[in-house]
Amino acid sequence: MTRLRSIERVIEPQYVREGAGVLLRRSIALPTLDHVDPFLLFDDFRAAKPADVLPGFPMHPHRGIETVTYMLAGNVAHQDSIGNAGVVGPGAVQWMTSGRGILHEEMPQPVDDRLEGFQLWVNLPAALKMGPARYQEFAAGDIPECALPGGARARVIAGAVDDTRGPVAEIAVQPTYLDVTLPGSADVTLPTPATHNVLVYLFEGDIRLDGQTLAATQMIVLGAGEAAAISTGAREARFLFITGQPLNEPIARHGPFVMNTREEIQQTLQELRAGTFPPA
Ligand code: MN
Repeated sequence: MTRLRSIERVIEPQYVREGAGVLLRRSIALPTLDHVDPFLLFDDFRAAKPADVLPGFPMHPHRGIETVTYMLAGNVAHQDSIGNAGVVGPGAVQWMTSGRGILHEEMPQPVDDRLEGFQLWVNLPAALKMGPARYQEFAAGDIPECALPGGARARVIAGAVDDTRGPVAEIAVQPTYLDVTLPGSADVTLPTPATHNVLVYLFEGDIRLDGQTLAATQMIVLGAGEAAAISTGAREARFLFITGQPLNEPIARHGPFVMNTREEIQQTLQELRAGTFPPA
């Protein structure tokens, strides 16, 4: 008998300003919810108006984490200290592993006044926090879509659904990252590794889950179990379905750096001041 996951918490996203003044909706890395191991931050930058996002995220550092940018509409132009440059367009994903250090900029470019996307921060285990930086970037056409019984469709960015495997690979926390569209009056049961923590970010429509009705936009943190059962009322719903293996390691965070100890944060800040960040 499959044990279905219940709802552990529902978080109302809070408006915050980040980067050079981008207005976004944050649901993890809030005073009321620091993290859901191994996930450290979740931002929704579907803009009310282009002016809210245009300031962008000029050159800034990261260490000890992975940042995952997934776009629905508009572009984010990026470049970094290890020679990468490009554009993350609609339906594309960029999975950036900062390791011991990277400097990069992320500049939103609305198209037809639309800029919609999400950024998730995934923690790195202590053994990989000072490893090399790397990127995995996949265009919309490289992300497979899987049709599920009951009418759901899932774009598989990382992990697998049935036999459909997402292109993002070799990530320490063995994540699943799905963009699920569930038509009206439909249901889906998504299996989850029993040891993983699970997030459902509902961004369009209403769903029923664990006997509750939830309306977009909400971050739903699920409890323990082996699968999640989600259904819709009359209308179509769309949500991100994200799972990851918790690390159970100490977290010391300071802005764009997430390490295990305060000493490691101090060391990082000292490298920044000395101009030796990122280390070769
Ligand atoms: Mn960044």
